This record gives sequence, structure tokens and C-alpha cells, in this order.
Amino acid sequence: MNQNESALKCSGCGVKLQTEAIELPGYVPQKALERTPVICQRCFRIKNYNEAMSVAFDQDDFLRMLGRIGQEDALVIHIVDLFDFDGSIISSLQRFVGTNPVLLVVNKIDLLPKATNWNRLKNWVQRQAKEHGIRIVDVALVSAKRNLGFERLLEDVGEWRQGRDVYVVGATNVGKSTLINRLIRDYSDMERELTTSRYPGTTLDIVNIPLDDGKHIIDTPGIVYSSRLTELVAREDLGSLLPDKPLKPFVYQLNEGQTLFFGAMARFDFVEGERQSFTCYVSSGLPIHRTKLERANELYAEHRGEMLAPPTRERLEDLPPLSRHQFRIGRGGDTDVFISGLGWIKCNGLNGALIDVYVPKGVKVLTRRSLI
Ligand code: GDP
Repeated sequence: MNQNESALKCSGCGVKLQTEAIELPGYVPQKALERTPVICQRCFRIKNYNEAMSVAFDQDDFLRMLGRIGQEDALVIHIVDLFDFDGSIISSLQRFVGTNPVLLVVNKIDLLPKATNWNRLKNWVQRQAKEHGIRIVDVALVSAKRNLGFERLLEDVGEWRQGRDVYVVGATNVGKSTLINRLIRDYSDMERELTTSRYPGTTLDIVNIPLDDGKHIIDTPGIVYSSRLTELVAREDLGSLLPDKPLKPFVYQLNEGQTLFFGAMARFDFVEGERQSFTCYVSSGLPIHRTKLERANELYAEHRGEMLAPPTRERLEDLPPLSRHQFRIGRGGDTDVFISGLGWIKCNGLNGALIDVYVPKGVKVLTRRSLI
């Protein structure tokens, strides 16, 4: 792009146009610059195909945008990924939304077994949201991909919206575009024009999708959290982390002093405790390898990128080095050791255990009450 072009703004949403990075706001293919008026690819897709597409946002821009929501009268839909719940929830949301109601939409429920107790899950979500400091008016469990839970969600939206605008916020890869597309189909007629961004002159790429009653669905870019493994791996390895089919629990009976490797992405050491079972909820695309703790360092040094993969040898350097987190799991209720973007390992609460987890530096690891 030359000097002149770089000053161009999208006539749909007002974002500064760029031709380099398809996943960032304002992307437009070089050829499309010849059209008048010029609009970014995201606006183009919504206008012509009724289709939202994902773009990413850095945290500062995102927080600035959230700050404005608090000054408006709107319903906020916060969409999170069930598989990466604690990694995709926006803990700071409450500070920014003011008195506006927040409806928490939990996507990707198709990943859980059909026999899941959904009421129990809903209670779990409510408790977790509270622990993250977010006050929510309701929880909707959906699968955007498999089209589950939408009738209920649309009822909830109708009930809480009460003729107001709807802001949709979420992290990247939670399924926001898929959800917006579904909302567009239900709420808006096919003939639509994009309105200009409410925030002209800013770099905020916010797309307003007009609804039949004159209000809007406001699609905001997805926030990027570098504490999610899915944000750190190369695009080629994303497929092995994101599950596509219902999660198959992998159960391991471990003795003290045994280790599990998840490709070369993470390592789980059972340091101390009585023999017990650990149930791994990770994508089946990620091979699990069991070994002795005393051999683990050597094995990793020799076989990472090969027997321990993904990532493969060529892409190992893309990940930060592994760093250690230690957890003492008490007796009592079941506990998950959650690794953002990778999944979780359920420890039963019968025995207690001392666990070391190694993940690329910066990736969020925590223990939580068991999801299943
Ligand atoms: P966005 O970045 O939040 O807009 O997310 P996308 O709609 O682009 O989806 C991100 C990834 O999650 C894609 O690989 C989708 O196929 C996948 N995805 C979206 N919704 C679902 C769902 O309901 N279930 C499952 N299993 N995957 C989903």
C-alpha cells in the first residue's frame, strides 16, 4: 500500500484500511481498493453475503471500546468458549459495561457428551462467572456450529433486549462470527445497508448490523489474549488443539512419579500422592505420551518435535520455553487442572495430589471446580 492508500478509511465502519493482514481490522484485498466506495472485507462480507467474519483486536483497543458500551443503553452478549472457558472469559467486563445487562452465551456445547447434565453445567457456569467478577442476567448454552440452543437464546435476547441495541463481545475463536451470522438471519431482513461506525475517526472496527426495529447488533472485533495456547501456536497447529468432535475422556491411572506429555505443548507431572486416575479432556488431535518423571527432562530434550509433537521440530521455536506451575490438589470435590487453549485434566478428590504443570511461558494454568 502506498502513502495515499494508507490514509483510506472504510466507508462502512470507518476503520483505517490495510492490505497486509487478513485477520486484523481494516483488511481489504489490494484489488478491491479500485472499487468506490471502498469498504473493508469484513463490511463487504456482511453487506453482500450476510456473513460476519472474525478479526482480532489488541487489549488496549478492546478496553477502550468496552468503556463506551457502559455509556449506552444496550444488552451485552458475552460469548465464551466452553472448551476454553477460563481463557476466553473477559474478567474485566464488569468494570466497563456499567448497568447494562450481560447475557453469557457459552458456545461449543456439542463438545460435551449428550448425556451431560445441562442444569448442572449451567450452575457451574454461573458460579464461575461470579468468581470472575461478572454479574450476568442469564446463561445460554449453545453450539453455533451444530445449531443447538438457539431458540432459547433468541427468546432470552428478546426478553433482555427490550428494544435496545445488542453488543456482542468475546475473545477470538470462540465462535462469535458463527453466532452473529445466526442472529442476523433471525433478526434482520436480507436487504440491509451497513451504517457508519458510531466512533468515526477512531481505529475501532465496529460493525453495526441494522435490525428491523431500527436498532443494531454491534459486532465487535475479537479480543486477543496471549495467555491462551491457541494464540501462541502456529496456524498449522491450531487444528490439533481445537476439538471438532465431542471430547473423548482419556483416563490414566498414574503412580506418583509419572508424567504425561501433551505433544510438546504441555507436561503434567504427578509428583506426590497415592495411585489414582486422571482424566484428560483434550482434542484427540493431540497425542498423550506417558513416561516416568525421572525420564521426563531427557525425553523432552531428545524427542520434542518428533515423538512429542505437535509442534513439529520446525515450529518448536515459535513457542516460548516451558515454565512450571505447582498445584496441591486437596481432598474433597473433583478438581480440574485447566490449561488455557489445551483443555483440562480432572483429578478426583479422593486422595489429594501434588502436581507440576509445564506450559509455554505466559499460558494461563489454574485449578477450578470440575466442569464434568
Ligand atoms: P470467532 O473468531 O469468535 O469469530 O470464531 P469463529 O466463528 O470463526 O469460530 C472459531 C473456531 O471455532 C472455528 O474453527 C469454528 O469452526 C469453531 N466453532 C465455532 N462454533 C463452534 C461450535 O459450536 N462447536 C465447535 N465444536 N466448534 C465451533
